[in-house]
Amino acid sequence: MSKSELRNEIPSLVSRLIQLPSVNPPGYTINVANFIRDWLSEHGFTSETKEYAKDKPNVIAKVGNGKPVLILNGHMDVVPPGDESRWVYPPFSGKIVEGRVYGRGATDMKGGLAIIMIVFAELTPIIEKLGSGSLIFSATADEETGGHPGVEALVKDGVLIGDAAIVAEPSGSSRYYIGEKGLCQVKIVARGKPAHGSLPVLGENAIMRLIKAITRTEELINDFNKGIKLPSELMDAIKNSAEVYLETARASGLNLSLSDFEEVVSTVSFNPGVIRGGSKINMVPDYAELELDMRIPPGVSPSQVINHLRNGLCGVADVETLDASEPNYTSPSEVIARLVHEGIERVLGLTPKPIIVTGATDGRYLRARGIPTVVYGPGELALAHAYNEYVTVDDLIKTHDVMLYAIKRFFGTLA
Ligand SMILES: [Zn+2]
Repeated sequence: MSKSELRNEIPSLVSRLIQLPSVNPPGYTINVANFIRDWLSEHGFTSETKEYAKDKPNVIAKVGNGKPVLILNGHMDVVPPGDESRWVYPPFSGKIVEGRVYGRGATDMKGGLAIIMIVFAELTPIIEKLGSGSLIFSATADEETGGHPGVEALVKDGVLIGDAAIVAEPSGSSRYYIGEKGLCQVKIVARGKPAHGSLPVLGENAIMRLIKAITRTEELINDFNKGIKLPSELMDAIKNSAEVYLETARASGLNLSLSDFEEVVSTVSFNPGVIRGGSKINMVPDYAELELDMRIPPGVSPSQVINHLRNGLCGVADVETLDASEPNYTSPSEVIARLVHEGIERVLGLTPKPIIVTGATDGRYLRARGIPTVVYGPGELALAHAYNEYVTVDDLIKTHDVMLYAIKRFFGTLA
């Protein structure tokens, strides 16, 4: 099949991928993985399956030899469709209407998956002619629930190791993600002394202690935020990100300002999510707890935040870690970031916007291994996980063209 035919195949390939549900939970990827393996084999490629959790295979294909090694990655699982009656077209129809492909996963991220399949097939003849250089294609499992038997396991296993990576999650054609906030989820526990509710003076009320601890925690985080020093090379990305979040907020009628979002992206956020305590109205409670979700910006580590809270709450409440991950980013001056940037500028004639996102992608496992990683793919953040999710054919083609340009430049083969 010629190159231009492959490019024309993109919308129907997205549609076929959507028609193979891979809803997570449970996140079984067998059907999608089989389809991708067959597709690769029809196009003359051998692939390998790596399975780290039952019925959650990952598909890997590699062409070329030696360095530099560029990794292309996309996840195969999708979030549940929710109430199917709220979809204009059935969520697994993959219907193509008026320049849009509809269905669960269209944006997140069967659109991106199709793009990296096509790009891999198109570039193989070029890569194979190189003296040295390899391209790895990876379709992976379980991103929507943490990526442990997916990208994390593949990186640990030495399968996904390279000099640069592109993760084709939905950034939209004119933006690319160079970083993401980290996670710091803790439990704050206050203890007291039980007594009869009619004689509170005999006890120590854990709920009242927890309330004080929560107010104190918010002050401690505000303090901590005053001392944060962000990496200076990320200032543009932070501003761009705030603009993107503001746009989304305005579209849903919220009256927020740019500085609100600059703050969200560049400081430790504070969201008390769950509170529990007490057992009976006529007892002085001896136990109360809060589950607190904090997202931390690049330059800050979860352990710094936890230590700060522990010191500040000493004698008032205990701080236990529930889950933590480091914030991470790839310098905008890294080759892969510069080439995607240049691609957006030259191929599309648009102003490229590097951004930082508040949520996590599988890119974090690659960055943790020291692999410069850019997230670039078709779709819009606001459509991920939404009803009537779609991706436009226009965005599919644009991101495809930019990716092709950036990868050719990466291997020094642009004619
Ligand atoms: Zn995704």
